[in-house]
Amino acid sequence: MSRSALVTGGNRGIGLAIARELAAGGDQVAVTYRSGEPPEGLLGVNCDITDTAQVDAAFKRIEEEQGPVEVVVANAGVTKDTLLAMMSEDDFSSVLDTNLTGAFRVAKRAVRSMMRRRSGRIVLISSVVGLLGSGGQANYAASKAGLVGLARSLARELGSRGITVNVVAPGFIETAMTAELDEERQTAIKSNVPLGRFGAPEEVAKTVRFLSSPDAAYITGAVIPVDGGLGMGH
Ligand code: NDP
Repeated sequence: MSRSALVTGGNRGIGLAIARELAAGGDQVAVTYRSGEPPEGLLGVNCDITDTAQVDAAFKRIEEEQGPVEVVVANAGVTKDTLLAMMSEDDFSSVLDTNLTGAFRVAKRAVRSMMRRRSGRIVLISSVVGLLGSGGQANYAASKAGLVGLARSLARELGSRGITVNVVAPGFIETAMTAELDEERQTAIKSNVPLGRFGAPEEVAKTVRFLSSPDAAYITGAVIPVDGGLGMGH
């Protein structure tokens, strides 16, 4: 099975692991990147997801190179952590603009051809903190919680067209984002994770691969945690 897939922010971290996993399953995979070099063996498309025109141009390029996008993974995300009292309106709205509105822009452009083809897979990468909340991350947690409402609304709108929309909510995963945490904080976090460790990007990637596969045809509007048990019950 060789489908046309797109992973936003697929040049590093979790996004790159997802892109490699989909490629290993036989898909043709494009990744968006903003800076540096695109990863080898994948179609790299320069795109800032806060810019609708750039999102449209990226899709046009992918459509030319590998056909209409059949699998889209909205993974690109940023953090700008600080306590509410210190959080500027720009800190809040810029994180929402990337993490939530960015996913909206990408999904909106992707469903154009998916609706015509009456099939498609959309996976949004949220976070355990979208459901648990996190001190110092009001902007980030709000954006990640918003993705659940977005996905579930789209799941209802698009189900009759054979398009599934699901959310993956990772816990703490070993990437540049978590490497920024100091040793003490990392130990404290791990002590709250039933499995006692951070996850690997590949563990998130395998869940995304399943949700985008034909085996997951009857799953839509789901929030799948990949968090070592951290968010259990939420
Ligand atoms: P990284 O910081 O390693 O990578 C983030 C990616 O998003 C990069 O490719 C970056 O591109 C891209 N990106 C950011 N802003 C934009 C933008 N405006 N337009 C296009 N691309 C953009 O993050 P992770 O791999 O750790 O995280 C990936 C996703 O998983 C994020 O949504 C994150 O919130 C989520 N997540 C991560 C967890 C973790 O523990 N790491 C836990 C839970 C969720 P560039 O390289 O050009 O900056």
